[in-house]
Amino acid sequence: AEPGVPALRAAGLHKSFGNVVALDEVGITVAAGRIHALIGPNGSGKSTLIDCLTRFHRPDAGQVFVDGQPAPSGPAAVGRRGVTRVFQVPHLFEDVSVLDNVLTGMRGRERQTWLTALLRTPGFRDEDRTQRAEAGELLAFAGLAGREEWSADALSHGQKRLLEVVRAVAARPRVLILDEPATGLTDAEVEALGGLLRALRDRGLALLLVEHNVAFVMDVCDVVTVLDAGRVIAEGTPEEVRADPAVLAAYLGA
Ligand code: ADP
Ligand code: MG
Repeated sequence: AEPGVPALRAAGLHKSFGNVVALDEVGITVAAGRIHALIGPNGSGKSTLIDCLTRFHRPDAGQVFVDGQPAPSGPAAVGRRGVTRVFQVPHLFEDVSVLDNVLTGMRGRERQTWLTALLRTPGFRDEDRTQRAEAGELLAFAGLAGREEWSADALSHGQKRLLEVVRAVAARPRVLILDEPATGLTDAEVEALGGLLRALRDRGLALLLVEHNVAFVMDVCDVVTVLDAGRVIAEGTPEEVRADPAVLAAYLGA
């Protein structure tokens, strides 16, 4: 999609747990070709918002749209519409190579059967070469060039988390939602993560990340939405949000 076109949008979301109001009239628009951060203090509603966007939770009121159409009910159906969520704990095939972990993610995107794999037509081999080249490119963005043949369990914790992101995008989602992707990464890995997210943005992916690392958010994000006590208190570029007195009071603690 063109940069700036809404890919995932919510309007008027309300969600309560008993008498705790987790979301109060929350709206957000995540656009193609943008890195969008969701920040806010603990308990401000970030996880609940992501759960409502991906249909893990049903909001009490409000709507969610994927590419302008009402979101289907249920996370699996939302996933089939191209909205992918990466969790904090990697789900890799540990005793399989780094490259094969990515190729496995790609093969989910076409209806490859064991039979078509066995027949190995020229078309299949071409597709295979294309996929290997694309996987290699994505791994290089993630700082994993030269490690394609390593067993995934030989990677550091941070590299595993980067590989998990590459694996998720191998299936070519249109929206990628990341839960604290920079947590537990070394400085070099955080830099690689930034490079990977920018490369994905430049390919038109819509990225939404919940992130506590404010320096990282300010460095890589195009748009920041700030939640406090279940409400959106600010939204804008990192510069705009950083200068907002309400944000300073609620979140940055300055
Ligand atoms: P954040 O991710 O920003 O830390 P959450 O979305 O997890 O915030 O939580 C928002 C509010 O909703 C908090 O007050 C939290 O205690 C409450 N909450 C979240 N999930 C549940 C739940 N399953 N049951 C009860 N209360 C919940
Ligand atoms: Mg949370």
